[in-house]
Amino acid sequence: MDNLLKIYIDRLSNERTEKIEESLSPEFMDVREKDLQFKSPVSIKGKAYLAENHLVIQLSVETNAHIPCLICDEWVEKKLTIKTFYHTEELENIKGQVYDYTNPLREAILLEVPSYVECMENCPKRGELKNYLQKGNDQFPFADLS
Ligand SMILES: [Zn+2]
Repeated sequence: MDNLLKIYIDRLSNERTEKIEESLSPEFMDVREKDLQFKSPVSIKGKAYLAENHLVIQLSVETNAHIPCLICDEWVEKKLTIKTFYHTEELENIKGQVYDYTNPLREAILLEVPSYVECMENCPKRGELKNYLQKGNDQFPFADLS
């Protein structure tokens, strides 16, 4: 499975482009947090090529993150989309003619994770919480708790 995220530089000589289209096991995200999990495949689609003395990787990325609802704590499946993941690496930094882009890809996906989610975009328990706090306005319910 590791091999799916490796680019072999010698295959890109003579201006060849490598097409990338994979559905990756979410295992590679290596995330096991109590408030963030990846259970859906990560689909990547794009290409890799050489430009001057750089390797260029261009991908679109799609997956789902599982995050607990801010209000009721139920798990929410949140779609993450990266329209253009663009990564370049100087060829002289690539050892052994093989470049593994697991880490840059993982970081890009983690950057897309929202800092909070609500189930169904509007948690049904939000109303209960609002009553509990006895606030009559529509402000974000936790805004005054800090
Ligand atoms: Zn909820």
